[in-house]
Amino acid sequence: CGIVGATGLNQVLPSLLRGLEKLEYRGYDSAGVYVNGGDAGDFLVREKGRVSVLEAATKNKNITGTAGIAHTRWATHGGVSVENAHPHMSEDGRFFLVHNGVIENYDELRDTYLQGVKLHSQTDTEIAVQLIDKFSRENNMSTFDAFRQMISLLDDNSAYGFLLMDNETPDLLYAAKKKSPLLIGVADQGNVVTSDAAAMLDVTQDFIELLDGDVAIIDKKAVRLFDVQGHEVTRESFHLDIDA
Ligand code: GLU
Repeated sequence: CGIVGATGLNQVLPSLLRGLEKLEYRGYDSAGVYVNGGDAGDFLVREKGRVSVLEAATKNKNITGTAGIAHTRWATHGGVSVENAHPHMSEDGRFFLVHNGVIENYDELRDTYLQGVKLHSQTDTEIAVQLIDKFSRENNMSTFDAFRQMISLLDDNSAYGFLLMDNETPDLLYAAKKKSPLLIGVADQGNVVTSDAAAMLDVTQDFIELLDGDVAIIDKKAVRLFDVQGHEVTRESFHLDIDA
């Protein structure tokens, strides 16, 4: 339902939580956040219900970090539960993924590629993150290639806004979209990704719109964008002249 992510912010958690609050008007049933804490490890917190419940659950955990992703979920596959809330984590704890939309052929992908993988949720989204993990391990692919490989297997009816993190590259965000909106926000101190510009206006008013089939790698300084054919492209940002 709603996606926010950021890299390069001094402390990322407050910006992510504020972003989720700004997305609340869209409706949702659960929410979650992942922050890469560097030496402090990975922080993954998910809750049913309001963003305020999630925020309360993040207190007293000393969550520090400059990059993270967060999500408000409107369940389509799998009931409303903490295990089904995003971000979803790969089996070995390396990859973290949030997803807006629906993967229509997820059961077929699970049966074809993920025999023997222990799944922790009933969602279509978890299949995507487990596929990325499998391709990166077994096919020795870069995270970017494993991400694209996973996307190439989604059937035409699927819709997605994806935002992925790999704890081996803590500053990087991987984004992709089709039939579900996703924007990259560019700022002096870092970069953000969101499904709705309104969520991140506190951080920036300059956004690059992703088009269907685009895949992007974002760090705090730079954005690399690849179109549906896999060609690297540059696209100008637009300025939103409205108050946060
Ligand atoms: N299909 C996913 C799920 O049910 C994502 C739903 C959404 O867009 O929030 O978990």
